[in-house]
Amino acid sequence: MSSMDELEQSTQRETGEPVLDVSNLRTAFFTDKEVIRAVDGISFDIREGETVGIVGESGSGKSVTARSIMGIVDSPGRILDGSSIRFKGEELVGKTEAEYRKIRGPGISMIFQDPLTSLNPVYTVGNQIKEVLRLHRGLRGHEATEEAVRLLEAVSIPDARRRVDEYPHQFSGGMRQRAVIAMALASKPELIIADEPTTALDVTIQAQILELLEEIQEERGLSIMFITHDMGVIAEIADRVNVMYAGEIIESAPVEELFGDPKHPYTEGLLESIPGRHPGEDRLRTIKGEVPTPNEPATYCRFAPRCPKAFDECNSVHPVSVPIHESADNHTAACLLYPEDGTREDAVETHRARSEVYEQ
Ligand code: ADP
Ligand code: MG
Repeated sequence: MSSMDELEQSTQRETGEPVLDVSNLRTAFFTDKEVIRAVDGISFDIREGETVGIVGESGSGKSVTARSIMGIVDSPGRILDGSSIRFKGEELVGKTEAEYRKIRGPGISMIFQDPLTSLNPVYTVGNQIKEVLRLHRGLRGHEATEEAVRLLEAVSIPDARRRVDEYPHQFSGGMRQRAVIAMALASKPELIIADEPTTALDVTIQAQILELLEEIQEERGLSIMFITHDMGVIAEIADRVNVMYAGEIIESAPVEELFGDPKHPYTEGLLESIPGRHPGEDRLRTIKGEVPTPNEPATYCRFAPRCPKAFDECNSVHPVSVPIHESADNHTAACLLYPEDGTREDAVETHRARSEVYEQ
């Protein structure tokens, strides 16, 4: 790419509309017993060519966020009124299944943690890729086969011409995940949502897959939403990071800033628990306790029971996302300690006032 092209592309990235713009998304499961607010008022966006990470412990609402965007929330769940998910300016919330089918594939495609969710054991890998090529690009016969082989080669599957005729069970775990990526790419999506795509793989294969995704992204100008519970993986792949906890985004920042200057005590805890962070210690530091099920409205901080910095008001005021200080334009935290310019009382009042508006 010439430097002129590069310049043009980066300007476009900075000034262009986001590819995905999620605003006040709330998705709840209405069970007999309780209402689980799995995603509880999150906002974030993804720009062209950008990789945005969503990180948090198990149960924090990452997969429900992905499924909400894809329009595949399981019953008894639904997206609540006031939620907005805009893809290239187009509102997705409220679309019919028929309308959504035009978005999935050429617009957004998803890679699941378990490749066997996406691969059908009774068809060859090649036929499954060709089915996507037929549906979304109208390719058939020889042309489709050639493109399937090219896609398998693009995801570094050796001997692709032979393997295109094999069944998923003949592939190793790492190869299957590559095949799933090839399938996700077959429809030429603009945004890929990858939900823990490397979690089931060993570290070496995981690193290869991350590298592969980055290469493909650069070639195609893809946007990626990358979900993981692993801070180490986020550091490798993300440009920007949203940290989720019990249905909320509790911190958001560019990756270097999040790792270099984490602000939310939960983020600090996640970073402390990265293996190898404290050489000489023989036990892994972890955050004590578990993510609570968000089954009541957040009128307090859901992290407070586990937070080493909690104080009285954390139990009675709901923290909303605020800039960490007045001049921060790209780093927010939902914690009563911020913004950090004034006194703690000032900060608490900011959250109290903002959350009253939110609850109306
Ligand atoms: P993560 O992907 O971050 O591990 P999830 O998004 O899967 O977490 O889940 C978030 C919350 O939503 C959890 O409390 C989970 O129990 C709840 N949840 C997810 N799917 C369902 C469902 N089908 N019915 C009821 N609750 C659900
Ligand atoms: Mg999940």
